[in-house]
Amino acid sequence: MDKNVQEEPFTGVIKFTPPLYKQRYQFIKNLVGKYKPKKEFTVPCTVSGLPRHSHRYSHVADLGCADCTLLWMLKFCSCIEVLAGLDICENIMKEKMHRLSPLPGDYLQPAERSLTVTLYHGSVADKDPCMLGFDLITCIELIEHLEESELEKFPEVVFGFMAPTMIVISTPNSEFNPLLPGVTFFRHPDHKFEWNRAEFQSWALSIARCYNYSVEFTGVGSPPAGMEDVGFCTQIGVFIRKYSQTSETADFEKPTKATYKTVFKAVYPSLKDEKYLQNAVVNEVVFTAQVIQRSLLDHLKSEHEEYNDGPVEIKSKFQHSRSCVSEDLEKLAVEKSMEPFVNGNVVYIPLAKIFSFPKVNQLCGTFEKLCKLITGKVTLSSDGSAVIVNIEHENEEEN
Ligand code: SAM
Repeated sequence: MDKNVQEEPFTGVIKFTPPLYKQRYQFIKNLVGKYKPKKEFTVPCTVSGLPRHSHRYSHVADLGCADCTLLWMLKFCSCIEVLAGLDICENIMKEKMHRLSPLPGDYLQPAERSLTVTLYHGSVADKDPCMLGFDLITCIELIEHLEESELEKFPEVVFGFMAPTMIVISTPNSEFNPLLPGVTFFRHPDHKFEWNRAEFQSWALSIARCYNYSVEFTGVGSPPAGMEDVGFCTQIGVFIRKYSQTSETADFEKPTKATYKTVFKAVYPSLKDEKYLQNAVVNEVVFTAQVIQRSLLDHLKSEHEEYNDGPVEIKSKFQHSRSCVSEDLEKLAVEKSMEPFVNGNVVYIPLAKIFSFPKVNQLCGTFEKLCKLITGKVTLSSDGSAVIVNIEHENEEEN
């Protein structure tokens, strides 16, 4: 038995924990996690030599998305970069669509992946090119709300035209209904039909055959102990496309005019956008420089105190180590060395040292990119090879 079954003896009152709708959404989330796109190819980083992976992110659409709760849950899946919702009822989508907008934290710490969320007003009985190129399309508790004419068009639109890699369809299993209190006919007044398992499976298998998909059946909302014969409360078909996209089936081969209306669009801040990447790199470089500077000064201070009796101005403490170095020699020293040093009131932190920090390295990828992104944004030595930090204030505080 799965974890979401009632484990207590059946008392005649069905109570799903978590609630059934949450189990359906969780089923989709788990599926996304299971099939999340693998790292696609590996290229060595030009400076560190470490392999860098390029990801292929998923495009997921939810048809009959209603108040967008599933989309809202999916926006936290870091492997998704395109989320789309479609519903024939514009008002229901608008009710809570603000939840799909980026939050202040998304701007403070932009994600590595890009994410675009779009909501469309339209019908699954109509084709629109905006639904092409998806990896996963979900239809949760949708088909039983379709009119006969819409249900007839549904396979050609979703399987034939949209033709994503995977399609998940869930619908009530009518065999479970006698166990649901108060359900005498259908579970909801807007349902046009409710199928038993044989009916759903025969419909699904004939579509799978026709559009070259495989299908597996499962469900959520397990029956109580001793009543397993009725099957899951919600029956689910998971369809997987058997062919790969070729030029014949690819998007550009399917010219269709737009029929859906866009009612919401949010583009999340992402490090893929140069503006946000630059911000993140500058912040990280300044932070890293401060960490290095602090550790250098602490080290030098403790070294000095070992040989002398009291605190002394950093400037005079370390000047002797570099004060005799001419400007040219100093330049050479910065170029040759990865190590930071103090000269007068200024600490020099070589960029090469900063680039060796994993976070900076990961953000920039290459040393050249690091230089490009911080130029004009961070104070650098005259030759541009080191970040310089003025420590005059430190000496003033000491005094
Ligand atoms: N998928 C959501 C969920 O699981 O919570 C909502 C399911 S709700 C029971 C069915 C949704 O399908 C409704 O929001 C309804 O407006 C939408 N719907 C009905 N007919 C539709 C059609 N032809 N095209 C798109 N959406 C439709």
